[in-house]
Amino acid sequence: MSRCTQTTNIEVRHLRSDGGNGISNAIVLCKICNAAIGFYDKNNVKPEPFSQVVIEKALKKAENRCQCTCKIHGCH
Ligand SMILES: [Zn+2]
Ligand SMILES: [Zn+2]
Repeated sequence: MSRCTQTTNIEVRHLRSDGGNGISNAIVLCKICNAAIGFYDKNNVKPEPFSQVVIEKALKKAENRCQCTCKIHGCH
C-alpha cells in the first residue's frame, strides 16, 4: 500500500462532511490530494471547523504527512 509522502502544503480537513469536528473525522492531506478528492459532497454540508487542539493532534497522528492512500482516492 502506498501512501502519499508529501509533507509540504498539508492541511487538516474533514473526512466526512457530516462527520463532525472531532479527531476521528480529521484527515491530513496535501494540496494535491485535497484537490483530487474534491470538496464536500452534493448535499453541500459545511462542517464546523476543527479546533486548534484537534488540528495539532491530527498532524501529530499523521506525523505531519499527507494521509492519502491511492487506494481510496486514486489521485496519485
Ligand atoms: Zn497527498
Ligand atoms: Zn492522494
